[in-house]
Amino acid sequence: MRGVTGVTEPGAVGRQAGIMTAAPPQACREKKAYRKKAGKDRSQPVRRAVQVAFLLLNVWIGAEFYLWVRAFETGGAPIVSRPPGVEGWLPIAGMMNSKYLFETGRVPAVHPSAMVLFLTFTGLSLLVRKSFCGWLCPVGTVSEYLWKLGRDTFRRNWLLPRWLDIGLRSLKYVLLGLFVYAVGSMSAAAILQFLQSPYGIIADVKMLNFFRHLSVTAAVVIGLLVLLSIFVQNFWCRYLCPYGALMGLAALLSPLRIRRNAATCIDCAKCAKACPERLPVDRLVQIRSAECIGCLECVAACPVEDTLDMQLLGVRRRVPAWAMAAAIAVIFCGATGWAIHAGHWQTHVPAEVYGELIPRAREFSHP
Ligand code: SF4
Ligand code: SF4
Repeated sequence: MRGVTGVTEPGAVGRQAGIMTAAPPQACREKKAYRKKAGKDRSQPVRRAVQVAFLLLNVWIGAEFYLWVRAFETGGAPIVSRPPGVEGWLPIAGMMNSKYLFETGRVPAVHPSAMVLFLTFTGLSLLVRKSFCGWLCPVGTVSEYLWKLGRDTFRRNWLLPRWLDIGLRSLKYVLLGLFVYAVGSMSAAAILQFLQSPYGIIADVKMLNFFRHLSVTAAVVIGLLVLLSIFVQNFWCRYLCPYGALMGLAALLSPLRIRRNAATCIDCAKCAKACPERLPVDRLVQIRSAECIGCLECVAACPVEDTLDMQLLGVRRRVPAWAMAAAIAVIFCGATGWAIHAGHWQTHVPAEVYGELIPRAREFSHP
């Protein structure tokens, strides 16, 4: 294992063996006259603002949900209502309900917002690349802060050797395949039966309880993931997250792409070094990879005017960070606003049913 200050130096990655960090910044490979970028790049402050806003939204939803659950556990009257947004943390239920909708044409009564959010985030990836991972996902945000903490503390992140990196990256697609197979083999009737079972109705409460009453094994696994995330950039997202795998596959159809102008590029490799997904931005004209999270770190790092941008295919129009943020906000708020207006946001389960099931949550296991 070797450690070198900094992050990715693309040429070094394939050459070195063992877990390692990248080489120091590479000098420009070719001296070329260039026009320096005018003005400060604001893509990262814009993206961070969106990330933090969504993280805070999730913290708020989590706190409200906890208070709501505690009220039923203690026999009191809830002082808050159940936040439907908590169902964003039930992607499998979202996938099941989407299948139910496509098969029957009906919106399910239990966890409809899981479906709305699942379809919204998939649609977001179809339009604005894998921006769910790079701009919205709270796990992605925490993961990013962890590896940045690791880099700032130890002045390095580890890069796994390419063969291991590629092998591990396939894990998330295998996991996605298993979930798609499991959900795909369920009939609409079986999905309805599952989600209307006691376990299905309080799947969100079971998830909360999983984190509230962590078993030793779960605590060790989560601790290990946190530790690895400090040293390896986006460990969970990069290797294990099936949701991210799905978003990446959807993003292959996105009309947005990072594009490099080879004529003005000075081959400094700063873009590739900045890319948290280790994509060889400095050697490609377009980034089509399912791994690109649309974070614009490469664009921010490029020192040359009009050389590296997120662009809209066909018209070759530059898409600035504020436009990506606006598109994400419009799609997210539009979809959730429509669902609220159409009555497809709240789970329609009487309070008495929750009162009966939540205190006995431990008794219900996966059917
Ligand atoms: S290519 Fe650019 S936008 Fe895509 S993940 Fe890498 S740094 Fe982010
Ligand atoms: S695209 Fe920009 S950052 Fe990347 S190698 Fe060319 S000049 Fe350097």
